[in-house]
Amino acid sequence: MQHNLVLYNTLTRKKEKFEPIHPNIVGMYVCGPTVYSDVHLGNCRTFVSFDLIFRYLLHLGYKVRYVRNITDAGHLEGDNDEGDDKFAKKAKLEQLEPMEIVQKYTIGFHDVLRLFNTIPPSIEPTATGHISEQIEMIKQIMDNGYAYEVNGTVYFDVEKYIKEYNYTILTNRNLEDLFNNTRVLSGQDEKKGRLDFALWIKAKPEHLMRWPSPWSVGFPGWHIECSAMSRKYLGDQFDIHGGGMDLAATHHTNEIAQSQACNHASPAKYWMHTNMLTVNGARMSKSAGNGFLPHELFTGNHALLQRGYSPMAVRFFMLQAHYRSTLDFSNEALDAADKGYKRLMTAIGLLDKINPSANSSIQHNIASIKANCYAAMDDDFNSPILIAELFEMVRVINSVYDGKQQIDQTTLVDIKELMQHFVCDIMGLQHDQVGGDGESVDNLMDVIVKLRNEAKKNKDFTTSDRIREELTAIGIQLKDSKEGTLWNKI
Ligand code: AMP
Ligand code: ZN
Repeated sequence: MQHNLVLYNTLTRKKEKFEPIHPNIVGMYVCGPTVYSDVHLGNCRTFVSFDLIFRYLLHLGYKVRYVRNITDAGHLEGDNDEGDDKFAKKAKLEQLEPMEIVQKYTIGFHDVLRLFNTIPPSIEPTATGHISEQIEMIKQIMDNGYAYEVNGTVYFDVEKYIKEYNYTILTNRNLEDLFNNTRVLSGQDEKKGRLDFALWIKAKPEHLMRWPSPWSVGFPGWHIECSAMSRKYLGDQFDIHGGGMDLAATHHTNEIAQSQACNHASPAKYWMHTNMLTVNGARMSKSAGNGFLPHELFTGNHALLQRGYSPMAVRFFMLQAHYRSTLDFSNEALDAADKGYKRLMTAIGLLDKINPSANSSIQHNIASIKANCYAAMDDDFNSPILIAELFEMVRVINSVYDGKQQIDQTTLVDIKELMQHFVCDIMGLQHDQVGGDGESVDNLMDVIVKLRNEAKKNKDFTTSDRIREELTAIGIQLKDSKEGTLWNKI
């Protein structure tokens, strides 16, 4: 395979040529959601970004094993070792078992990602399904001398690790600053060093999710699950590790330390981080209370929204920004994305209506647009540039459809293939599902009303009456007025 894919590696802080460890095979691990509440649109942006990456790698012909975990245990509030358990807290609030919380929000997560037309990962392991692998890894880290036990809880010895390895290799943070910004240990702390973090936590009596281990009945720390599961399914060293940018400083930094301390190898060759979705410049997050739920966006049922947008228009909105740039949410930006998405899909529809001629005047244009599309994606998955190129293609399609330019059969097939590859296979866009959202129903009703009015104009009252009656039967009423035909649900 001959590809020129270049990607930005957080580890080296530069763009690098993508060369997988094993030719033609890619192992990719992406940190999945913590399933204790609904995913918000920010979370979705990260998973849509990795879906674009996954899709492009598949398009290039790589055999990709994409592992994305489900965090269903061990994630405490504040992302540290001392907060409340996120699942237990929510379970109490909703009067459910913690595993009912996990099930409810895992299903919700899958439903939302399906609406966004993301391809499911090859393996979706859960933390609770891999407790023994995590215990095994902790044992090895202890045997290698990088972890210690205090009263049934096991800590990673960051202070020892720092003496031999570059702990902040991923973010290049200054160690002194890191120390200064970390809470000083109090007399009550069990940890030896203030940067140490828990690998295994002894369960308090009220803690519901608990498993036996050599150290105590307890539960794993948050970071060890990803190290244990990535090792199990992708090996000690694999190609790409990804997640949102907010995970780099702590979660991923600790993952690297755990894998180094266990396997004496840095886990991933390329670390990729997606930037945040923001609202008025502030990161969208559950705790900030500025998180839109996807269904609020689809229905328009939110104080900040002027109307609803289809999942595909939202997906297009996300892809209009490069995955490493922030993306700010606004009604105007969504309106623009909605128009752009429709322009693209309308052009694809027109391709089926174009009659090819004997000659073509624009073969060269198509070849150069195609080369530019690949160049954009090869340059660190640059979707906004790709979209600009595709709009170039839309202009060509429209002018052929309007009869201003001619294309032959071969060129028409080339254009269809290009649009299929880049719009559908790589960007993951498809025509809106009818009935799922208000706007598709609006469009559909426009078509039906137009057909009925044409029938009336042609004095075909049998057809026009039948349309009205059948709509009434399914709960839709038509009203003829001076402004035209209006409709409403009965
Ligand atoms: P969580 O469920 O909080 O563990 O987050 C799941 C994923 O969503 C992680 O990769 C986060 O980095 C990512 N994420 C959280 N907030 C945002 C945001 N506002 N924009 C983009 N990604 C986000
Ligand atoms: Zn992770």
